[in-house]
Amino acid sequence: MKHNKYKLFLILLSGIALFLLYSTHLNNKLNPTGAPPYSEAEEEVPDTTPFSKFVNWKRPDGPAKVGIQIGHWKSNELPDELEKLRSSTGTSGGGKYEWEVNLEISKELVKLLETNGITTELLPATVPPEYWADVFISIHADGSLNRLTNGFKIATPWRDWSLKGSKAADFIEISYGKITNFPKDPKITRNMKGYYAFSWWKYEHAVHPMTTSLIIETGFLTNPYEQRILINKPELIARGIAEGLINYLDSENLLTKQDVQQ
Ligand SMILES: [Zn+2]
Repeated sequence: MKHNKYKLFLILLSGIALFLLYSTHLNNKLNPTGAPPYSEAEEEVPDTTPFSKFVNWKRPDGPAKVGIQIGHWKSNELPDELEKLRSSTGTSGGGKYEWEVNLEISKELVKLLETNGITTELLPATVPPEYWADVFISIHADGSLNRLTNGFKIATPWRDWSLKGSKAADFIEISYGKITNFPKDPKITRNMKGYYAFSWWKYEHAVHPMTTSLIIETGFLTNPYEQRILINKPELIARGIAEGLINYLDSENLLTKQDVQQ
């Protein structure tokens, strides 16, 4: 009997030790702030485009094109110039890594846009050099140590040579708020505006300066309510984004009438 008690005590002890080990591992692995990999400061952005070849730039012919970046997806494959971001896996919540949630939303977004005659491209963390599209949108989910923190936000680069970023962002803000019912989080960080994929003057793997570029934090994966919707209803989240994108592209006369399915 005494022997059995001792055995039970040992099992209990190793259980506690395992639990402690696992929680430390999780804490190290997860980044609850969800801070995406951006950091370019406003002062670093040139005032004029250093690329004279872009002065007489004209939009390439062809149907409306949207590049959808799945935030943090395959970040381990980032090129050497972005080596420091290879470990950037984003936030997590509800048993999902941020990139997994971003991936499901992005796939739904592709379906909705293609149905409306829009050409789409799914992009990983690595953006092709001088990437051009009518709109480049990077899909992310946010994270906070405070589980009550909620809401979505959309940011444009510090300086936008396409001059159309805020117009596109406004369209999506309206549709996204209406369809998801998520509140708008006004706290756009300077880091969002300095997202690495916007930094064409610095990195080869970044958008073309004439690409209208956006980054959306679709909601907080650390907020129980938003987490549920982000994970279980990616098509609803995608619809919130798609409707705004379609309205924007239509306002730019980039959609033919039969493309637009109301
Ligand atoms: Zn992110």
